[in-house]
Amino acid sequence: MNYQWYPGHMTKAKRMMQENIKLIDLIIELVDARIPLSSRNPDIDEMGKNKFRMVLLNKSDLADPVWNKKWMDWFESQGIHALEINSKTGAGIRSINGLVQEACREKLERDRKRGIVNRPVRAMVAGIPNVGKSTFINSFAGKACTKTGNKPGVTRGKQWIRLNKDLELLDTPGILWPKQETGAGMRLALIGSMNDEVIIPEELACDLLSCLKELCPKAVEERYGILWQETLPLTLEEIARSRGCFTKGESLDLKKASGLLTDDFRKGKLGRITLERP
Ligand code: GDP
Repeated sequence: MNYQWYPGHMTKAKRMMQENIKLIDLIIELVDARIPLSSRNPDIDEMGKNKFRMVLLNKSDLADPVWNKKWMDWFESQGIHALEINSKTGAGIRSINGLVQEACREKLERDRKRGIVNRPVRAMVAGIPNVGKSTFINSFAGKACTKTGNKPGVTRGKQWIRLNKDLELLDTPGILWPKQETGAGMRLALIGSMNDEVIIPEELACDLLSCLKELCPKAVEERYGILWQETLPLTLEEIARSRGCFTKGESLDLKKASGLLTDDFRKGKLGRITLERP
């Protein structure tokens, strides 16, 4: 299947992002821990070239813990501070402040030398749709935060969330558009970051089965009580049978079985699976 990302409103999102980026010191880039590469956007390097950077591997609860560690190491090896988090439960969020200080150390030292004290780091959250930006901002900002409102002159119309004396967060996240390569498109569809209307469920399910066969074949057999068949479509039929997916005419309902499988994967019911390796 040709996985297409329709960037309709992305031009506007890009313009907003370029405007907002001027106001900040640090970009907090959210990626999906299951596909840390495909859920990034290469343009962010260009857009954020004079900014401090850090990457948060969100939804780490759905990804393989061993690979979470390896991805963190990989990002560190690229000179990018990284952390694994779960925005839904707040796991890992408390370590962020320390990492912000580390990521922005140069700025903090420069300020200190110039005698500037109490100037907080200004940060912005950026990431592709559905990566968890709003959930993260809510979780990170929590109840303790106060909206500082408009800053006359410089940031009219912008809302800032004061997290503590050292950090202010722009309350509107930057939306990035994901990579467009075929493989990346498929993985984006698998994690649910692509409009499901443009996707053929049976084809996505077979692509998913192909990944699962390579990464964790046992998990599929155990979850559905089946064995891998000669081909992926035949395996999908087995899943349909074992889950009682039939149409009214009593033929197999592969569309339903496909939805079931994809949903199980997205919810982590097949285990914690990382689809990309550094
Ligand atoms: P946004 O489009 O980037 O703002 O994404 P949202 O914040 O709306 O989140 C998209 C979906 O991902 C929602 O259903 C969230 O509940 C879910 N989500 C966000 N963060 C996490 C996480 O760390 N773990 C899990 N399992 N789900 C998450």
